[in-house]
Amino acid sequence: MVTKIGVLALQGDFAEHVAALRRIGVEPVEVRLPSDLDGLSGLIIPGGESTTIGKLMVRFGLLEPIAERARAGFPIWGTCAGMILLAKRIEGHDQPAIGVMNITVRRNAFGRQVDSFETDLDVAGLDRPYHAIFIRAPLITEVGPEATPIATLADGAVVAARQGALLGTAFHPELTDDDRMHRLFVERVCEGVGAR
Ligand code: GLN
Repeated sequence: MVTKIGVLALQGDFAEHVAALRRIGVEPVEVRLPSDLDGLSGLIIPGGESTTIGKLMVRFGLLEPIAERARAGFPIWGTCAGMILLAKRIEGHDQPAIGVMNITVRRNAFGRQVDSFETDLDVAGLDRPYHAIFIRAPLITEVGPEATPIATLADGAVVAARQGALLGTAFHPELTDDDRMHRLFVERVCEGVGAR
C-alpha cells in the first residue's frame, strides 16, 4: 500500500510539499476538512503565516482533531509557520495553535535586515549537510525535556527539533529539490507508526 501523507492546504506553500511527496513516491492528500485526515500516515503543516493558518484551522474545525491526533502519537511535521503552530509556547503571541511540542518559538527571529537567508546545516539523521532556506523564520528558544534539538546554526541557535512523532523545522525543505528531509519524515517517522 502506498503511504498517504496529508498536507494542510489552507494557506502557505502546501503545493511545494505536495510536489516533494510525489517525487519520493508517496501519495499526497490535501487536507482542508476534518474528514481528509482519515487514513493518513502523517501530516505536514507548511510554511506561510501562522496566525492565518491557525485561524483557518479553527474555522474549518481542524484544530482540535489535529491536536487530538498529535497527542495520540500521530506524526506531524511543521515547517516554519507549521513549526510555530506545533509549539506549546510562542513568545509574545496569543494565537490559535496546536500546541503539542514542548518548545518555545520566537517568530520572525532574524529581524528585517536578515529577513531570509540560506545556509548548510548538519541535521541529525542525515548523512551530509542540508542546504536550508530560512524565510522570516522562527527560532526555537527553549527545548523542553521531551523534545530534542536536531539542527543548530553555527552560533548554537536551535532551528529544528523532534519530539516522538513530531518534527519541527524553522527552514523550508519543500523549496529545494533535496528530498532527504521529506524521506526522513516519511520513512523514519510515519512508516513506523502506521495509517490512522
Ligand atoms: N513569519 C511567519 C510566521 O510567523 C512564518 C514564515 C514562514 O512560514 N516562512 O508565521
